[in-house]
Amino acid sequence: MPDIITQGKRKARKEHICDWCNSKILIGELYNHAVLKYDDIYTWKNHIECMKIAQELDMFSETGSEGLDADSFNDFVNYEFSNHIDSIPDAVDRKYSLKEKVDFLLDNILSY
Ligand SMILES: [Zn+2]
Repeated sequence: MPDIITQGKRKARKEHICDWCNSKILIGELYNHAVLKYDDIYTWKNHIECMKIAQELDMFSETGSEGLDADSFNDFVNYEFSNHIDSIPDAVDRKYSLKEKVDFLLDNILSY
């Protein structure tokens, strides 16, 4: 896993893009901001919800040394979503964005 240099929650003063789901983090929204080191130093931003689903689905335990990248995140969410496709209204007709899938799963499937 990458080394964490700094990590914390921030309130978005401008729009950002979530490094996991690739959707917007809106102005005023609380998000996770981290500075990481893996060879190079880089920043990582993600939705609070995306972190939550990564933890709920135990994504971190199955990722390699480079950490949880967007491709793996995508696979995990799509796999979980397809497992519940029968209980998702109009899931077949409607195209859910990755972030919508995350929100749907958190709100309806993983809430316990
Ligand atoms: Zn996200």
